Order: sequence, then C-alpha cells, then structure tokens
Amino acid sequence: MLVSIFNDVIGPVMRGPSSSHCAAALRIGRLARDLMDGSFTDVLVEFDRNGSLPTTHDTQGSDMGLFGGLMGWDAADARLPGSPQALRDTGVRIAIETVDAGDPHPNTYRLTLRSERETHTLHAISTGGGMMEVIDLDGFAVSMFGDCHETLLWTDGRGRELVAALSHIIAADEILLHEADGRQLVEVKAAAYLGDEVLAGLSGVLSIKKLGPVLPVMSGKGISVPFGSCAAMLEHDAGRGTPLWQLAVAYEMARGALGEAEVIAKMTDIVRIVRRSIAEGIAGTQYDDRVLGHQSGRFDELMRAGRLLDGGALNRIILYVTALMEVKSSMGVIVAAPTAGACAALPGAVVAMAEAMGLDEEAMAKALLASGLIGVFIATRWTFAAEVGGCQAEGGSASSMAAAALVTLAGGTLTQAVAAASMAFQSMLGLICDPVANRVEVPCLGKNVMAASNALACANMALAGFDPVIPLDEVIETAKQVASQMPREVRCTNLGGLSISPTAIALEATLAARRATSCGTGCACG
Ligand code: SF4
Repeated sequence: MLVSIFNDVIGPVMRGPSSSHCAAALRIGRLARDLMDGSFTDVLVEFDRNGSLPTTHDTQGSDMGLFGGLMGWDAADARLPGSPQALRDTGVRIAIETVDAGDPHPNTYRLTLRSERETHTLHAISTGGGMMEVIDLDGFAVSMFGDCHETLLWTDGRGRELVAALSHIIAADEILLHEADGRQLVEVKAAAYLGDEVLAGLSGVLSIKKLGPVLPVMSGKGISVPFGSCAAMLEHDAGRGTPLWQLAVAYEMARGALGEAEVIAKMTDIVRIVRRSIAEGIAGTQYDDRVLGHQSGRFDELMRAGRLLDGGALNRIILYVTALMEVKSSMGVIVAAPTAGACAALPGAVVAMAEAMGLDEEAMAKALLASGLIGVFIATRWTFAAEVGGCQAEGGSASSMAAAALVTLAGGTLTQAVAAASMAFQSMLGLICDPVANRVEVPCLGKNVMAASNALACANMALAGFDPVIPLDEVIETAKQVASQMPREVRCTNLGGLSISPTAIALEATLAARRATSCGTGCACG
C-alpha cells in the first residue's frame, strides 16, 4: 500500500499511550468485529512468546484498543480505557494466551472469534504509528490494510468462475482468489461493498462478509504518487526549489485523490486538535495509572515568571511537548505524529515556534505537511514501530520531521528543510526503546523533548547552511540497518535498558497492585 500522510504519518487522532498498540489494535478489532457481523460470544487472543506483545499488551494499551475495536468504537472514544470490561459486560468471554507460534513480526495478533453460528480466525500485524495489516484470514494468506471496502465471498469451489463473472460486472480495485486446503475465498477490494443485486446474481457463494475501511484516506485503482524517496522528490523538483510543504500537498493530493484545499483543511483540523490538547495538558490532567503526574503547569508558571533559564522559544516547545505527553498518558485525545509514544515532539515544536513567531494555523498546517512528507520517506523505506526499530524509529523520525517543519516555518528552502531532516535523524541513530513500567512516559517524555530540541538546533544549522553530508535516504537506510543490529531487549519489550532498572521494576509492581484494585478505567475508584 502506498504511504499516505494522513493514514501513516500524521494521525490517527486517538487516545492511549501507544499507537502501535492502541490504535492499530483497535483497527484490527474493528475488522474482526465486521468479520463476525458484530456478533460473537468468545474471543481468543494469542501472542507469540518471542514477540513484544506478551509483555506489553496490557500496559501499553493493546487490550484497550483491541477490545474497543471489537466494541465498534472509534480510536478517540472516551470510553476506551474501560473497553475490556465493556466487552465482558456484553457477555463476551475473553481469553489471552502466550503461544509458540514463531511469528516473524514482533507485533502479531492471532484472533479466534466464535459465535453460536460460526468461527473465524484473523491474524494481523501492527506495523507502527497505528497502521496494521491483516495477513491471514481463516487460513487464507491475505493482505488487508483497512483502506477500502472489502467484500469477502466463501465459495463452494467455483471461485475462478466467480472472479471471471465479477470482473465483467463490477469496477473493483482488485478481485482476488485465495485458496488453502481445498477451500476458496474471493476477496473484492473496492470503493464500496458489492451491492445486494450483484450478490443475488452470483452462484456458488457459501457466505458473505463485509469489512469496512478503518483508515481516513482510501486507496483505489490507478492511484500513484509522484515520488517515494527524498532523492526521487529532489529529482522531481528538478532544482525549482518548490517549498517542501507544497510538494507534500502534491503528494497527498495524488495519494488520496484529494484537492489542495482539502489537504490543507484536513491538516488545519489536526492543528486545532493539537492546540486543544496542549491547553488541556497545561491546565492539568488526572489519571491514576501512570508514572508521572501533572508537571507542565508548574513549568508554565515558572516560565511566565521568568524563573527558568532563558531558552527562548525552546522553553515554550518544552512546555508544549510536556503538556501533550501528559494528555497522552491520561488517555486524552492526541494525534500520533508519527506515533503516540512520540506524539509530542513534532506538534509541540511546530505550535510553540509558530506561536512565538506570530504565525497562524495555516502556517502550522503547512509545516506539519512538510514534516509529513519526510515521514512518508521514512515509512516508505522503513517503519515507525519501536518494536522493530527502537526509539530511533519513533523519536528519531519525529525529530527529523520536526526539523523540516521548523525550517518551513522559517521560510527556509527545500534544500535546507531536507538538510535539517537528515541532520536531526543522524543525531538520533541507535536510540533504544526502554519505557519504564511499560507506561510510555519515562524516558519517553525526555526523548520527545530531546527530539524537539534537536530539531530546533538542526533547523537553525540548516538555515545557516550547514552541510548534512549524508543524504536523508541514506540516513533512513542506516537507521534500518542499525535496528537489525539492536537486540530485542531494547526494542519495546520491557526487557532491557531502563525498563529493568530496580526502580522501574519496583514502580511496575506498585502500578500493577494499584491496577488490581481499580475498576480497570484508570480511575482507581475500587
Ligand atoms: S522509548 Fe521512545 S520508542 Fe520507546 S515507548 Fe518511549 S517514546 Fe516510544
């Protein structure tokens, strides 16, 4: 699937500590719910022992997202923290097991859903930043991203005839025949489900399911993008020096079949969500099941009183980054940009700097679009998933994207924006992922602040004409290589780094005890 700024990079708008856990799991749950027509009595969730999920599914929000998705909820639904109990309250029995499945991807969900009438299995992977892919459905090898309407037809062996017939009567993006163990499944990917009239005219169909899209930007037949790497973008620009944000708009218009005004309006909406979250964070958030309390309010107070060291606009950036992280950890609404764990560095830096410069929301949106294109290059070549790439994939990407955004706010050139992105990413290579007590707060707050500070430094260096030496594409490729040399223990498994320091272990035990006496919504009311 082609990467989209709104699908893969800036978004989803969500609640929860981790997009690769909460938002991706929610999307998987939504598709699984559709597979059962919204009706089921039992859910078995299996995680591979050597993956990241056995140690993180509860505390990083996979359960919250998955069960919210199975309830049919949205990623920003205020009820999400209580989704496990809500699902149980509907009478559904939930079992979660660790198995030896040998799954190659660390974030693999194996679901078995049962009702009185039927049983289905669905295997999916969370690929980072809230994105997911269904890779197996009832034993058929599939590839579903939730970016179109899926009509699934189980057949009595007449799958080839069915595909031939459908090819003549409908305009689908793809009509695929899957075969396994003598069984057949026809998958129709299209802008809409197959209509009742078409379905009524088909023979050999045993059962039909309809899986709805879960991504904001749909895919379709014939969609192509003008470039997928930084080098290709510069070649496309051919020395004209088009601003990075304009190239981003051109990319997303092509990717999503959207108009220019629509692309800018969508990003402006995201800016407004981020600004609301910043205000909410500074005003004070409350949530019991977290490591850090409300700290941004005091920072704001001291900053306003002139009692902090003079950091210029950097202090406002630190304030906004902190506020956004506090909202995230209190299950408030944030924008994964590019992930929930690294949700604060980029938008915090952009909004704070734009405000300091007296710029409006459209300027902020354009800066975020510019950053989104850097994210497209990262996601096309690699990933934002910390389980795959460590914090360099989350915080490193965020810093690189933020650097390009800050150059854009300053009216810098395309060359400067790309140079800033390259320099910022270079400084973040090798960053491990080791959240304390599995809460995506410590050292994540500091890493977001560092990512934003590094972005500011690199943006100014680029504006002053500093030479990044290594092109951005090569830096991204290097991050990918470094990730393959990083042990599993420091890639978001809670098995290494600060995660296993004595204080972290003690904190985890304290939080676990508190959770055991709470109602499961984080309010500790029990
Ligand atoms: S250490 Fe970095 S990658 Fe890991 S959870 Fe924290 S912010 Fe995300």
